[in-house]
Amino acid sequence: MSAAEAAARDQASSTCATLEITRERGQRQVFCGLAGIVWLHRKIQDAFFLIVGSRTCAHLMQSAAGVMIFAEPRFATAILQERDLAGMADCNQELDRVAAEVLERRPDIKTLFLVGSCPSEVIKLDLGKAAERLSEVYRERVRVIDYSASGLETTFTQGEDVCLKSLVPQMPQLPSGERSLLVVGTLPDVVEDQFARLFKDLGIGPVHFLPPRHATEFPPVGDGTSVLLAQPFVGETLRALVERGATLLKAPYPFGIEGTLAWLRAAADAWGVSSETLDAVTAPAIARAETALARQRQLLAGKRISFLPDSQLEIPMARFLRRECGMELVEVATPFLDRQLMEAELPLLPEGLRLVEGQDVEHQLDRAREDRPDITVCGLGLANPLEAEGLRTKWSIELVFTPVHGFDQAADLAELFARPLVRGSLLKV
Ligand code: SF4
Repeated sequence: MSAAEAAARDQASSTCATLEITRERGQRQVFCGLAGIVWLHRKIQDAFFLIVGSRTCAHLMQSAAGVMIFAEPRFATAILQERDLAGMADCNQELDRVAAEVLERRPDIKTLFLVGSCPSEVIKLDLGKAAERLSEVYRERVRVIDYSASGLETTFTQGEDVCLKSLVPQMPQLPSGERSLLVVGTLPDVVEDQFARLFKDLGIGPVHFLPPRHATEFPPVGDGTSVLLAQPFVGETLRALVERGATLLKAPYPFGIEGTLAWLRAAADAWGVSSETLDAVTAPAIARAETALARQRQLLAGKRISFLPDSQLEIPMARFLRRECGMELVEVATPFLDRQLMEAELPLLPEGLRLVEGQDVEHQLDRAREDRPDITVCGLGLANPLEAEGLRTKWSIELVFTPVHGFDQAADLAELFARPLVRGSLLKV
């Protein structure tokens, strides 16, 4: 049976599934929203992210970025010193000086993001005012936008959400009577190009992507905008778009064959594209994906997996790994569960699943030790201790650093989870 057939069978039997969600509150072990800068700065090619923070923030960025290899970064930290934190220095003057230095050195920068942190919030540095002031100074040359990525009660993917939300007021108005599709959530360029081709072949358009590749090309938004979410952690951005008239197309997320097909179908239905056309356009990519995925399915089928709450990608990943790769879900924990964003995903999870919202890290680790799943998906900070206890792990942050959306990446996504298992079996030999 093919992965798509297996998925269709499961869908029929689980649409009535009742899911009980356990809420946990306790100590958390997550990266803050600053980590989002690592992939956002790669996507928006003419933007610079200036973090207004402490040495801790700079170290966090270094660790998050340290797992990637790529060209010159377009982010930096303006470090608040003890004198600043004690209110003995004018931080605004220092911020203006650092911004001037950055913009002089990097004439290619068209948007400067001032990114707030815990320290900048503690001293109540008004980055909104600073952005207004700097926008005035660099008028016509650079747009200056502020957002805050601070907080211990956040997740690292929320950094993208607050950043994209800060762009919404800058988006031009879609003229009344016009319609367009807006895909929201960062996609690697190669994946964005694949989706753009599929939408074109389906006759759906115009299609825009948020974030755009260049900060000078903000997509329009208005009453005629239909939104498809590419990432399950952009709820605040969605609500800001809805306030400007946009409508959400409800769909699972485009991970795996099943998710991608259902996601495209939501747009196809909104544009009145027939099922026959959708099937014809997607058939070659689905056939390729099924062949590639079959190899990974052999490695993953029957293996047990647990998710610790970290990326907000846990639910769609669990759906894909169970329904298309045959994995057994031991526990799926997610930091926040936004029911609106998960409406099309939750019915695809199996009845009786141990689904947890929130974190109490010690309890979750105890359960992982007791369950001893074949693989545990977790944050960077928890992976090494679990590996030391003989548990195989996968860093959840890799799911946002690697192209994993769409048909052509379905097997790569499965391979991300198969790799630690293969490595583990080699180590045992
Ligand atoms: S949690 Fe706060 S202090 Fe720590 S790195 Fe993030 S913004 Fe900086």
